Amino acid sequence: MTLTERIRQAALDAGADLVGFAPIRRFDNAPPELHPRTIYPPTRTVIAVAVRQPRGALAAVEEGTYWQAYNCDSYWYLNEVVGPQVLRAVVLALEADGATGVPVHNPFHPHSGRKIRDDQPAGPDGFVSLRVIGVAAGLGELGHSKVLLTLQLGPRQRVFAVFTDAELEPTPLFEGEICDGCMACVRECEACAIGESRDVTFTIEGRQYGHAPFDDRACSHVHRGDDPRFGPFWNGTEADGEDPSYHKFVDHRFRHRGICVGRGCLRACLDHLEKAGRIEATFNTPLIRRERWKLSEPPAAADGRQNA
Ligand code: SF4
Ligand code: SF4
Repeated sequence: MTLTERIRQAALDAGADLVGFAPIRRFDNAPPELHPRTIYPPTRTVIAVAVRQPRGALAAVEEGTYWQAYNCDSYWYLNEVVGPQVLRAVVLALEADGATGVPVHNPFHPHSGRKIRDDQPAGPDGFVSLRVIGVAAGLGELGHSKVLLTLQLGPRQRVFAVFTDAELEPTPLFEGEICDGCMACVRECEACAIGESRDVTFTIEGRQYGHAPFDDRACSHVHRGDDPRFGPFWNGTEADGEDPSYHKFVDHRFRHRGICVGRGCLRACLDHLEKAGRIEATFNTPLIRRERWKLSEPPAAADGRQNA
């Protein structure tokens, strides 16, 4: 077995679903502050590992019945258990061969400190785009929505990375086309966070990739459940300025609150790709199987908070 094969197997054995290898030259066009060498200057290969989000966690939110599976399995468990476990397995396999691997976790707190040396493009902890790393390592493409889409899982994975000084065998860039521009992500994102035109572009080894402009602030309001039309946990009993008790529970227990659960960018996209046969996995029950829910009249207290 080559080192590349051993690393791939170590990642899969530890719980990864997809593994890819990007030679550092694929980041030649990256802005200096987003370059993997910002974090580990000797990097020769960027290893991307993707771990799936359970489809059932998305299905339960689509039904409007259960959010905890998403906040636990798709955030806390992937980011704090499976991701670190896979990263550690990869790093140990590299170390057994005399190579160094820096595990790159999800999420980031971008460039929060002062530069240590003048030749650094930015301060620690550096920021890199794990989605772009997934593309550079051949896992898939970015959809119109800016979400990484893969043939195996569509939009439902999280990406982690290892930056290593080992030369590993490159994974070919993904040659297919998954996103067909159906615009379901745009139509079904009630925050209007995803732009209409797919004109934010970048190039890797001559191939151009693109996605729509993305409004993080608009997304954040709905994503975190602050819009009562898509946040069923507002029940009108909250004191002025107070969050619903469920939001507090999720913040405390899972440390990341996802209430929108990608109504457009994740669930509508996955449903479209599955129904159109543009990804490989098939399932007994469609993800979206009836008219989608949307609460009409927000409770008074929530309405007041929203307009505060
Ligand atoms: S919903 Fe349609 S347009 Fe949007 S990313 Fe998915 S496939 Fe592309
Ligand atoms: S998480 Fe929700 S609000 Fe944010 S972009 Fe996706 S669909 Fe829109």
